[in-house]
Amino acid sequence: SAEITQNVKPSVWVEFTQLAVEHKAVNLGQGFPDTPMPKFVADCMKHVAEHPEMVGWHQYTRGFGHARLVNVLAKLYGDVYGVKIDPMNEILVTVGAYMALYYAFNGWINKGDQVIIIEPAYDCYLPQVIACGGVPVPITMKLKKNATTSADYILDLNELESKINEKTKMIVVNNPHNPTGKLYTRQELEGIADLAKKYNLLVIADEVYEYHVWDTETIRMASLPGMWERTISVGSAGKVFSVTGWKTGWALAPAHLLGPLKTVHQNCIFTLNTPTQESLAQAFEKEVEIIAKDISQSYLRKGLSSELKAKRDRLASMLNKAGFKPIIPDSGYFMMADFSNFKGPFLEEKPGDDPLDFRFVRWLCKEKKLATIPPTAFYSEQFKKDNENLIRLCYFKKDETLDAAEKILDEFA
Ligand code: PMP
Ligand code: GLN
Repeated sequence: SAEITQNVKPSVWVEFTQLAVEHKAVNLGQGFPDTPMPKFVADCMKHVAEHPEMVGWHQYTRGFGHARLVNVLAKLYGDVYGVKIDPMNEILVTVGAYMALYYAFNGWINKGDQVIIIEPAYDCYLPQVIACGGVPVPITMKLKKNATTSADYILDLNELESKINEKTKMIVVNNPHNPTGKLYTRQELEGIADLAKKYNLLVIADEVYEYHVWDTETIRMASLPGMWERTISVGSAGKVFSVTGWKTGWALAPAHLLGPLKTVHQNCIFTLNTPTQESLAQAFEKEVEIIAKDISQSYLRKGLSSELKAKRDRLASMLNKAGFKPIIPDSGYFMMADFSNFKGPFLEEKPGDDPLDFRFVRWLCKEKKLATIPPTAFYSEQFKKDNENLIRLCYFKKDETLDAAEKILDEFA
């Protein structure tokens, strides 16, 4: 409602993406790769553009998702979740993962329903839940003392259970996790799943970084025993193929869970752009074929992760050398780093000021020309104070960008 909207402040993406441009900063802030997109994906789009006579590739397509795309997604994820997915009833293609989340909250939340959000949490969950009349119930993961890896972010399952009551409708689980890079273990996921089953909760599984792992695989919530029936899985082609600007995502769930999302969608945008969906369908078909034939040639299962791991290691060593304390991520393309060693004007606090990380990030961008993101944006008000000594950096960047960041960081050493 207008009343709710009036109280929403600009998001970090609005402020800090603009600030990075204004100060011509080296941008390790907003999460997007600045490396060239995979050529085979670009070739698919080229192929689509080269065929104006293919009416079905360029006019309105099926409202709930372009048929060729939902068909291949059903095949890919049927194998991943170990269930048979009905492409026409159990997949909804959306404008990015953002919209799949928004539909899920809109479709399922009644006024006053409580939604458990594990913090730090991707910053759109909370305002989206509030916009739908829901009540966010935050719980924070505790960061161990002298933490070195993202596995040191610990979720206390007893505390989680203590947040559940008769108003609790759903829990949002983001795995692999933004901003920490935490990759949930099977034990942790089963712990959450057991609570969802015990209290009859829906789970929104935001798994947009599902392929951004190395030496291992993401365990999908919907693949756990008894969880397919109560999970809405959210994915993003922008993440999968490193083309964030394509803004195409999906919600995947059994028909009875997906229905309300489809109702919201049909009267909101009805259908999304066809050429991008057709291009993605062709790219996914190629991937499905390669995964079956020779997984070592797969972009999703091999190429992407080998590229990322090297970049992660490089950024971690740059940060260490400069005096930050990085928390090495197990997945995703973000890294948290503690900046407590640094002194500067950002330490001065005036009444009404933003948290320390916001002040540090603004200083770093304006004075040192390095753009990052302040992680307290991922905490609700009462937990910001305890978590204001970190910054979040994106390491999915080409060598030249990391070189430029290294030069800036070297000045700190
Ligand atoms: N969830 C998480 C955890 C994200 O990091 C993002 C940002 N890409 C989204 C959802 C939204 O993804 P999309 O760009 O596909 O809307
Ligand atoms: N998901 C990306 C991030 O976390 C981009 C966010 C955005 O632009 N809204 O940085």
